[in-house]
Amino acid sequence: MADPAECTIKVMCRFRPLNSSEVTRGDKYIPKFQGEDTVIIGGKPYMFDRVFQSNTTQEQVYNACAQKIVKDVLEGYNGTIFAYGQTSSGKTHTMEGNLHDTDSMGIIPRIVQDIFNYIYSMDENLEFHIKFVRLIYSNLLPVSKTNLSVHEDKNRVPYVKGCTERFVCSPEEVMDTIDEGKANRHVAVTNMNEHSSRSHSIFLINVKQENTQTEQKLSGKLYLVDLAGSEKVSKTGAEGAVLDEAKNINKSLSSLGNVISALAEGTAYIPYRDSKMTRILQDSLGGNCRTTIVICCSPSSFNEAETKTTLMFGQRAK
Ligand code: ADP
Ligand code: MG
Repeated sequence: MADPAECTIKVMCRFRPLNSSEVTRGDKYIPKFQGEDTVIIGGKPYMFDRVFQSNTTQEQVYNACAQKIVKDVLEGYNGTIFAYGQTSSGKTHTMEGNLHDTDSMGIIPRIVQDIFNYIYSMDENLEFHIKFVRLIYSNLLPVSKTNLSVHEDKNRVPYVKGCTERFVCSPEEVMDTIDEGKANRHVAVTNMNEHSSRSHSIFLINVKQENTQTEQKLSGKLYLVDLAGSEKVSKTGAEGAVLDEAKNINKSLSSLGNVISALAEGTAYIPYRDSKMTRILQDSLGGNCRTTIVICCSPSSFNEAETKTTLMFGQRAK
């Protein structure tokens, strides 16, 4: 089953609409789109597996970014979906959206629904164990239960100690867990926006299946990662502990970029151990894993420089 040639990294790019404060300020809408895979900013084209214009629906994004990965996870593959971009670019909207609304729900609630629908559709000889783990990874609080340490078991597989872990039996229970996670997520105030979420939010869905007649087992793991805002420290005007945290976050994002571009280039050495996050994700990145990165962008002229940096990050993975 494990065919390394099947390793796939897909990079998608999504532009949100201008928001009301950008419109009030008189910002220009700068992206120009060409076909389904190219966006032009300041005359320079950036190509991805897919580019989503501002009017793309949550369902369209789900179908293109996640549906196939979910199918693969149910067949025993591991996968990761990331949302990358500056604060307020639409990462949480893309990953979570409105958890309790059919139209505006994002990737995570749709995945949860799809997995449960799959279980309900399968015959009774199949036994499922779905584990759902929420990890909040922040550097600001050095001694806190959200600051997780990574261990490795005797098979050298990293696992995380001290996180909130529970078994779930319905989509509703999963949404409740996500809601709790949102309430607990550490938010540091910066002058970038009303607030900037200075932490990575990682959801792990582990689906185990066992055929009780044949005793055949299958296990697939899916990480859904809402990354911390990628904006440069200088722009946020952060100081002290917040500045240290921002530096740490920028470092973990650049480590992630290094791992993904090494995977995309097919180099023998992949620097997984350079950051905690890449160690956590190690067995779901590379190998025969499915990886999708959704690059989230603001369309505003005010954010042009940051948007270009974001697009360049996505290009590194190609
Ligand atoms: P981030 O998580 O990157 O900081 P958010 O996802 O919170 O950004 O988005 C910032 C704001 O913009 C939110 O109010 C969100 O609802 C809105 N928004 C983001 N993307 C879209 C979109 N594609 N369509 C409509 N509104 C969006
Ligand atoms: Mg967010």
